[in-house]
Amino acid sequence: MENVLDLTKWYKKNFRDLPWRTTNDPYKIWLSEIILQQTQVVQGLAYYHRFITEYPTVAKLAEASEEQVLRLWQGLGYYSRARNLHKTAKLITNEYQGVFPNEKCELLKLPGVGDYTASAIVSFAFNKPHPAIDGNVFRVISRYYDINLPIDEPATRKVFLEILQPMIEQTSPALFNNAIMELGATLCKNDHPNCSVCPLYIDCQARINETIALRPVKNKKVKKRNRYFNYLLIRYKDNIYIQKRFGKGIWENLFELPLIETEAPADWKNLSNSIASTVSNTKGFNLVKQTSLKHVLTHQTLFCQFFEIYTTEKPVFVSENCLEIELKDSTKYPFPILISNFLLSL
Ligand code: SF4
Repeated sequence: MENVLDLTKWYKKNFRDLPWRTTNDPYKIWLSEIILQQTQVVQGLAYYHRFITEYPTVAKLAEASEEQVLRLWQGLGYYSRARNLHKTAKLITNEYQGVFPNEKCELLKLPGVGDYTASAIVSFAFNKPHPAIDGNVFRVISRYYDINLPIDEPATRKVFLEILQPMIEQTSPALFNNAIMELGATLCKNDHPNCSVCPLYIDCQARINETIALRPVKNKKVKKRNRYFNYLLIRYKDNIYIQKRFGKGIWENLFELPLIETEAPADWKNLSNSIASTVSNTKGFNLVKQTSLKHVLTHQTLFCQFFEIYTTEKPVFVSENCLEIELKDSTKYPFPILISNFLLSL
């Protein structure tokens, strides 16, 4: 690329002043990178401040319980990031004496740290020349060189890396990675890129060839699955019942209400058998309200129904996993945001 200097000059004039850009503390940089995976900067910024305030050092984060970390993460989605964040904090504290490694190959051993995140940390914290290729960088380079290769194929990353390596070596690695990502995030957007003020305007091949809308190329389409979650909000005196979600699927280790998942939408009547195998004393159950909510995730659409039931008899659950809590204490537990908002609305 002829315009590396134009790109970095543009960045110095136009960059958004974000707290992780004015530090070379690897803890803060790592934290921001994990938060910003699959999260917009505006939303991520609030969570970054929240985490830095609560856990100003990696050792403080390692001391927290997983439940506390999940609770603070609530609303950000992709909760495996929070679980890995906590695991990595413990590893750094206990096995690396609290010091983040400054080599990419070491960073790659940490839970939740992939190629992009490791490159971002070594370049931003230690100014080492490793191109960090995220979606923004793929888009800018695809367009600048008018590349017709699918960016979701692993082999393409290698091609992009070969293009970017000589560029990053022309300047400060931290500056270069920040500049190209910022260009993708603020000018070279997916829809309606702002080419007229872009520092790469003159040589951008996709602009010249009028293929901007076709770049980057993606092969795979995300297949969505519909799921039907029927939640039982059982109210006995001031109490409700919650359970921890186990297994490798969505929301692992978060709390939820007793759940009956069905293959298709279900109503109260055709749920009765499943309810009886969840709670053994349902005679006094009085359904007072049914609320339907749709929750869209990347690979799944959840059609959730909340059945609000009052009972005068203390419910006996078949599973030992159920916990009785006062409704007012529900804010102490990490729930998916859908359930947390529902409980707050009561
Ligand atoms: S000229 Fe337009 S399409 Fe090309 S890199 Fe700049 S913003 Fe992207």
